Amino acid sequence: MSRFFAGNLINLVPYTPGEQPKNAGELIKLNTNESPFAPSSFIKKAICEGEQIENLRLYPDPTCANFINELAKNYNVKSENVTVGNGSDEILAFCFAAFCESGAAFADITYGFYSVFADLYNIKKQIIPLKQNFSIDIKDYKNISATVFIANPNAPTGLALSTQEVEALVLQNENRLIIIDEAYVDFGAQSAVQLTKQYDNLLVVGTFSKSRSLAGARIGYAIANEDIINDLNKIKFSFNPYNLNRLSLIAGVNSLLDKDYFNNCCSEIIKTREYTKKKFSEMGFSVTNSMANFIFVSPPKLAKNLSAENYFNALRQKNIIVRHFNLPRISDYVRITVGTKQQMQTLLQVNNDIINEYK
Ligand SMILES: *Cc1c(COP(=O)(O)O)cnc(C)c1O
Repeated sequence: MSRFFAGNLINLVPYTPGEQPKNAGELIKLNTNESPFAPSSFIKKAICEGEQIENLRLYPDPTCANFINELAKNYNVKSENVTVGNGSDEILAFCFAAFCESGAAFADITYGFYSVFADLYNIKKQIIPLKQNFSIDIKDYKNISATVFIANPNAPTGLALSTQEVEALVLQNENRLIIIDEAYVDFGAQSAVQLTKQYDNLLVVGTFSKSRSLAGARIGYAIANEDIINDLNKIKFSFNPYNLNRLSLIAGVNSLLDKDYFNNCCSEIIKTREYTKKKFSEMGFSVTNSMANFIFVSPPKLAKNLSAENYFNALRQKNIIVRHFNLPRISDYVRITVGTKQQMQTLLQVNNDIINEYK
């Protein structure tokens, strides 16, 4: 640390992204919930056939108007109800900067970035423990006046709230903002987007990183009442007006235009996830009912000494890379991204070998 670093940030612990290995080609990479499928072919066409590369000498549209109009159409809302960010992480950062004067409330087990953003912006945290089975009981939020952040489906458990439950949270207190992070919603959970038309204390955040195969393009969006969107834009234009670059704007628009491809990719992941969950259960793993593009599993008790950490390392030795969080309550679990059916079959084969070694 230099002697110039701000005193109030000395104890800041940054977010730890999943590893992006150099030799990715030799590995089955199931550690960061990326899509195993290429982005829509519309994107390559749009970027390669136009003057897009030449146009990189020009700043992008700071209002992102084309992209926002396409998002509005896609989600059946008005353009005034949408803004976009450099990944949904940036939007979440804007939310912490804009809406958390009376603190931020979130689960003990959830997306790790919420806590980091709260610390970065010096925001008071209220941690609401999940139930024993990792579910959220919305009654636990009844008397919370801080801004609530919920990943739905939650990470890394994959468990989802219904739209009715989200609505009940919103109705608990009209003077409290509920932020629903729908990073994984396209894999079968219910979206709260349509509720934003009815309630001005609900903000839905989403990303193109998972279901749209565009993690490398850094595209996120927010949908809410117009006043909330204006507040977010105020932060954006005070921080980085050109937060989406030209190529990402084109990628975003064209991903939305290719609806069939998007729907096919999502159904394929859902199908493969259900297959994988079933096979893991049959092998004796504890498996949560994940509605995301990952499964969350704990190794079979009959495999003595096969802790989650040992399982993680054993997979790694066989060139399969997953995620283990050495954190209270979930250290017995690993999170595994749903890849292609073939990748999952390799994984299941390797599971057999590992379990036999540890029996
Ligand atoms: C992956 C993820 C994000 C971040 O998405 P980006 O758009 O890539 O920044 C946000 N929230 C949750 C819960 C995620 O899992």
